[in-house]
Amino acid sequence: MHVFKKNSNIFNLLSEGVSEGVIVINEEQTIVATNSSAEEMFGYGKEELIGKPLKILIPNRFHNHHETHVQNFIAKGEKRQMGHGRDLYGVCKNGHEFPVEAGLNPFELYGATYTMALVIDITERKRIEKELSLWARIFDETLNEIYVFDIDSLRFINVNKEAQRNLGYNMQELAEMTPLDIKPDLKLSEFRSLAKPLLEDEMGKVDFETKHLRKDGTLYPVEVHLQLSLMGEKKVFFAIILDITERKGYTEKLEKTVEKRTRQLTKALAKEKELNELKTRFLSLVSHEFKTPLSSILTSITLLGKYTETEQQEKRDKHVNTIKNKVKYLNAILNDFLSIERLESGKVNYKNEIFPLSKVVNEVIYNANMLLKSGQKIQYPDNIDEAIVFFDEKTLELALSNLVHNAIKYSPEDSIIDLKLEIEEEFVVIKVIDEGIGIPKEDQKHIFDRYFRAENALVTQGTGIGLNISKQHLENLGASLEFSSKINVGSTFVLRIPKNLIQIRK
Ligand code: ADP
Repeated sequence: MHVFKKNSNIFNLLSEGVSEGVIVINEEQTIVATNSSAEEMFGYGKEELIGKPLKILIPNRFHNHHETHVQNFIAKGEKRQMGHGRDLYGVCKNGHEFPVEAGLNPFELYGATYTMALVIDITERKRIEKELSLWARIFDETLNEIYVFDIDSLRFINVNKEAQRNLGYNMQELAEMTPLDIKPDLKLSEFRSLAKPLLEDEMGKVDFETKHLRKDGTLYPVEVHLQLSLMGEKKVFFAIILDITERKGYTEKLEKTVEKRTRQLTKALAKEKELNELKTRFLSLVSHEFKTPLSSILTSITLLGKYTETEQQEKRDKHVNTIKNKVKYLNAILNDFLSIERLESGKVNYKNEIFPLSKVVNEVIYNANMLLKSGQKIQYPDNIDEAIVFFDEKTLELALSNLVHNAIKYSPEDSIIDLKLEIEEEFVVIKVIDEGIGIPKEDQKHIFDRYFRAENALVTQGTGIGLNISKQHLENLGASLEFSSKINVGSTFVLRIPKNLIQIRK
């Protein structure tokens, strides 16, 4: 020990100059010299360690192992680094443990063997290593794609695993590529202008959406977050990329739902509007369409009061008839309106029943007779007794009387209205044929629209409701209504009832 005392000046001179802790032990592993770095590192006072066994600087749990380890080492007598492949720990006077790196240097002095241990406290290095490995792990394990690339050549410097996986390229291949190789929609000039605010320090981050091209040729939508970063001294681009395939899918679904709801709302709104319009129409109709028949009813009644003589019965009959007709007309309009209202509110109750077709046809013709213009004639179908029908009687009557009334209204005096019944394989067909004004070609496509009235019909009274509701009701019941017409020649309306609704009398 005195050897070091003797030479302490030289030892001090040498050892105080190094930042590592220096600890010299003899063959018994007793500490014979320390420098102040070592004393500080282990929390001891000056020379407090001299004469103490080395093991007081080593945590208890390592004692056994350590002692033999150092012995073996001294026996071999070679210089080496300790703790290869495993962590070494030192312990302070106060019990605090810390990771160390130690190198052992044996030497001979005056015939005795000593070992000089150089000890470094690696707490900080370990901490940084741990942090770095955490970041490295995050870099590699994150399911976002991360790309680091050169700001000049744009070549990839590092690309994380997820990006390699999704793209299908390995790092070797990517090292030869730039972001533009995987972004087919992005031109170099566009990329440069996107990156400009980063390079000019005007913005910290640039976000944009584009598509990535995989090695297998498929594309996927991505959201790019581009930043500048430093790699050592060198500026690099750093991009975090989110594969937004699913989000896009989600957005699309959301858009579809919104679209659907919008359609539903639009429909509901249209219905609401339609009902409102209906009310308005009804009011204006009452003031227009009701005026004429009501005033003619009034006239007839006034005149009736004047025909007091017995022999004036004929005149009285004429006016009573007029009144009847006008009332019927008003009633028909009201029925049409109620029908719309019921159709709109879904409150229609159909009741299919078996009845002879003649029952409805007779009723319709009987009522229509009163409306006939002078010289007009309705031809009755001669095979009418062949059909009995399974259908909603009210609907059939409404539709048929609409057709017949129209035929009368839109035909001149002395014309013939032909009612035909054709029994086909699958349908029973009722045709109402007139020789009237016809429907202009350009108006034909609108003829079943509600409130629509053709150009040439405007001089005649009407509401544009009858055909619309007739068709709707018929179609609700599986029947159909069509027409053909030629202006100034005449029109044929064809009502088709499927036979599975009809029974033919044997
Ligand atoms: P309205 O007769 O009360 O106007 P409709 O719905 O019954 O309403 O008919 C709609 C339109 O179809 C009529 O305004 C008319 O222009 C045309 N139309 C219907 N039937 C005939 C017909 N037999 N001949 C010529 N035009 C017709």
